[in-house]
Amino acid sequence: MTTQEHTKPALTGLDRAALADILSIADVPERQRRMRAQQIWRWIYNRGVTDFAAMTNIAKPLRARLAREFTIARPRVAARQVSKDGTRKWLLRLAPDETGQRHEVEVVYIPEEDRGTLCVSSQVGCTLNCTFCHTGTQKWVRNLTAGEIVSQILVARDDLGDWPDVMAANPDAPASGRWITNVVLMGMGEPLYNFDNVKTACEIISDGEGISLSKRRITLSTAGVAPEIPRAGAEMGVMLAISLHATTDEVRDRLVPLNRKYPLKALLDACRAYPGLSNARRITFEYVMLKGMNDSPADARRLVNLLRGIPAKVNLIPFNPWPGSPYECSDWPAIERFAEIVNRAGYASPVRSPRGRDIMAACGQLKSESQRLRASQRTRPAQNRTAAT
Ligand code: SAH
Repeated sequence: MTTQEHTKPALTGLDRAALADILSIADVPERQRRMRAQQIWRWIYNRGVTDFAAMTNIAKPLRARLAREFTIARPRVAARQVSKDGTRKWLLRLAPDETGQRHEVEVVYIPEEDRGTLCVSSQVGCTLNCTFCHTGTQKWVRNLTAGEIVSQILVARDDLGDWPDVMAANPDAPASGRWITNVVLMGMGEPLYNFDNVKTACEIISDGEGISLSKRRITLSTAGVAPEIPRAGAEMGVMLAISLHATTDEVRDRLVPLNRKYPLKALLDACRAYPGLSNARRITFEYVMLKGMNDSPADARRLVNLLRGIPAKVNLIPFNPWPGSPYECSDWPAIERFAEIVNRAGYASPVRSPRGRDIMAACGQLKSESQRLRASQRTRPAQNRTAAT
């Protein structure tokens, strides 16, 4: 594909209104735009087409015109790995951005007995440098567009055969009728530092005529950007997960440096202000288990105190190591003791079983090679860094 093709405006990732508006470029008369946008929407998100020629309820000349003006191409799969536990990870090479660079992000599918969760990235790299997180060792490169966030789901659905027409023909299809039943914004990046694009992506993902996943099945995980938390609840209405990981500011400052800006009190106050909380709609507090660091019974008791008054559940995550990581995972008895104290206080405290460790797909192991070029380097033509395209 030529670079020029990639510079055509992408339709994937526009909300309904923007999709209708942009059709003016293809001279679609104003009174037809909403109807055409509706057709295209269904083709992209419900049928998964990647070629305008397949849009058979649109007249051929208009299909051809749309194809000249716009793109609905997916990011390329640069690498695909399948874990021995069935977890899949894709490395996606994005279309060149305005600087001509083609960046890469990872996306992970975790099949479970009763559901399938897709873990989606929101940024290339991350600004936050949490000291136990592999992505934190990769510098922030850029925010993903709404289209790039949504496209991760489309690519995964292609590979899984998770489109309604493919599913209908598959005798082994699960009862839910879909392989991806849940989406978590827990891949690379801090979603609340890419608020607008994440918000648009959540709207598209939950739209009933497209991918159609209820907002209760979309979870946004944040390292704790306190001022954006109530706003995320009001404007996105998805489920919230907080990467808490420590029970004192002293320890949290070290693990999640963002804590120096928004310390525990500010973070928990923001959580209390999250709209729509109830026992049926709780905040998940993620807590990585680091040996000798945050895993004592005293920590567990402090955690319970911190959560008082918040409809909450706790997700204990055994630390997943990565090359050069400076921590060790807590011993199993320490994890059990911790879980027990939290559980006795009335909070569900499941231990997240590590999935896809053998392909570096588990929590906090994601990283891509993408780097931000200096301004002087950006003027060069785009080059593929690796052979496979
Ligand atoms: N930026 C978001 C999403 C991060 S990934 C956030 O900070 O919430 C999802 C979870 O995995 C977070 O709770 C994150 O802190 C945790 N995590 C990061 N590195 C980890 C590791 N090496 N082992 C276990 N969990 C890790």
